[in-house]
Amino acid sequence: MNLSFVEISSSTNCNLGPRKRKKIWASENKEWAFTKRQCMHQQRLLSYLISNTVVRSFLWPEKEIGIGEMERIHVSVRARPISEEEAKTSPWKTSSDTIFIPNHTAFKFDRIFREDCKTIDVYEARTKEIVSASVRGFNGTVLAYGQTNSGKTHTMRGSPLEPGIISLAVHDLFDIITQDASRDFLLRISYLEIYNENINDLLDPCNRKLQIHENLEKGVFVGGLREDFVDSPQQVLDLMELGESHRHIGETNMNHYSSRSHTILHMIIESRQRRQDEGVGNVCDAVRVSVLNLVDLAGSERAAKTGAESVRLKEGTHINRSLMTLGTVIKKLSEGVDRQGGHIPYRDSKLTRILQPALGGNANTAIICNITLALVHVNETKSSLQFASQALRVTNCAHVNEILTDTALLKRQSKEIEELRSKLKNLFYWHLIYASKIENELNRVQREYEDLLVQYETERTINEIQIEFLKAKLGEAKSNHLVCEVLGNMHHDENVVIRDPEAILVVKQLIDKIDKLEMEKSSLKQKVVDTETEKLLWQEQCVDLQSQIEKLNQEAQKEQACGFTPCTDSIEVRGCSGAPAEATEATFSAKIVDVDKIIDVDEIIYLDDD
Ligand code: ADP
Ligand code: MG
Repeated sequence: MNLSFVEISSSTNCNLGPRKRKKIWASENKEWAFTKRQCMHQQRLLSYLISNTVVRSFLWPEKEIGIGEMERIHVSVRARPISEEEAKTSPWKTSSDTIFIPNHTAFKFDRIFREDCKTIDVYEARTKEIVSASVRGFNGTVLAYGQTNSGKTHTMRGSPLEPGIISLAVHDLFDIITQDASRDFLLRISYLEIYNENINDLLDPCNRKLQIHENLEKGVFVGGLREDFVDSPQQVLDLMELGESHRHIGETNMNHYSSRSHTILHMIIESRQRRQDEGVGNVCDAVRVSVLNLVDLAGSERAAKTGAESVRLKEGTHINRSLMTLGTVIKKLSEGVDRQGGHIPYRDSKLTRILQPALGGNANTAIICNITLALVHVNETKSSLQFASQALRVTNCAHVNEILTDTALLKRQSKEIEELRSKLKNLFYWHLIYASKIENELNRVQREYEDLLVQYETERTINEIQIEFLKAKLGEAKSNHLVCEVLGNMHHDENVVIRDPEAILVVKQLIDKIDKLEMEKSSLKQKVVDTETEKLLWQEQCVDLQSQIEKLNQEAQKEQACGFTPCTDSIEVRGCSGAPAEATEATFSAKIVDVDKIIDVDEIIYLDDD
């Protein structure tokens, strides 16, 4: 089984200190309770990212949760049209995807759109993909950043003559959903603004100064925000119009107001597999929930100004803390502070807190940096481009957000258990095969030992008979008086002398043969003794091995009876395969590793014993 694990790191954008950074392992044994407990203990883990969705995702093998790839924030630059006069004095030059002031720093981006471009070109550069990915379950965020009057609202909301990114995205979204016959979709939208660090609900003017909450089920969310179900693009655009009308309340200078407030159109897309065959067991009720944020930010010159006039903080001047924090967060992320275990101050502002997943987290993100090339705004443009080029170095890791209903969870778990069970069955089958193979080998060697013993015994007996026979023949020769005196010198044991030369030769041969046979007899005796000793040793090993096989068989039977168990990691068999011809030398040993602990069999090693 593949254990799936996710490292809480910069890529997943959790604010863990260096010591708290650790791998969260999700295995069948530890699973959720473990992960959940970790989250409970580490308050900062309770971010949008470590929402219920993501934590649950840890439980499933990687292939199933489809952890996304690390991807950079896509950054494009859009220059708004300027007058002919301004164009003549503009210090900026562009070439391909680079914008620069001659002899000064150049900035390179994913795309640069000149003054004459259309919003649809900007949309198609990246936002279109983000929208279609959001339908597939990936979070998406598109931000328009830039100084006041640089064209952010024009880009995001458009004009009567030219639809903006929001309108294009909403139409695309509904087109994709309508064409997807395989899933059922449910869309909700909310529309909020952050002004003076207060979150106001633009769909319900009574909901002002809303608070951000966080829990395991929903991650980070704005409490009490009105969410409307929508089923057509027009409905979304009408609700936005309504929201815009609420922005005017209590404000006389709308330009001033809007340049200091951020608006977020928050679309929640839920989908599940369309079920034609209700009740079929293997249908999985996993619900995908993704969020698409379309953000029109406050004018970025505010950040610079508030930074420059920080002394006035004490005097109660309003600071657009969100925009300043956004700059800090992007800067730190681009410097890899999070990867080094450093702190990223998402919590320092409402905007960064809400957008945390989009900034170095679980989302596809695009930033459209709106600029003006007029000489008079050169400093603001430079500072916008600096922010954008820092954002270019920030990476996100988006993945499909899938929430399992309880029934789906059960179905998926029982499916997994079934798979594991059949895998285990397979493994036990192989163990049994190897056990019987060892048994066969044992029997074969035992037979060879026994044959050898019989052979030695037979040879020894034959020798004894031959010796007896020859001795009798010698006695017979003596008794026939064929003794020669010469022989007295030839064999010290014999006191007889044979005189006939022929008889002398026969007796000599007989005595030689008797000597030789006596020697063979004693060597055979030794061999039999050795073989008997070896047999005893080997039988001891055999008993050991058989008790192991017995144990294995019992376990296999027991586990097959209850259907689910850990099994051996590896089984090592020595001396079985290609056992040497001189089988007396063969030894057998079987090694069974951690039978109770290991849950997978990686390999079965089958070795010759050298
Ligand atoms: P911001 O939201 O950045 O403050 P706006 O989008 O409100 O800026 O733009 C300021 C003015 O410039 C608006 O009147 C808008 O119509 C115009 N404008 C901005 N960008 C473009 C563009 N690309 N084409 C035509 N007019 C634009
Ligand atoms: Mg605007």
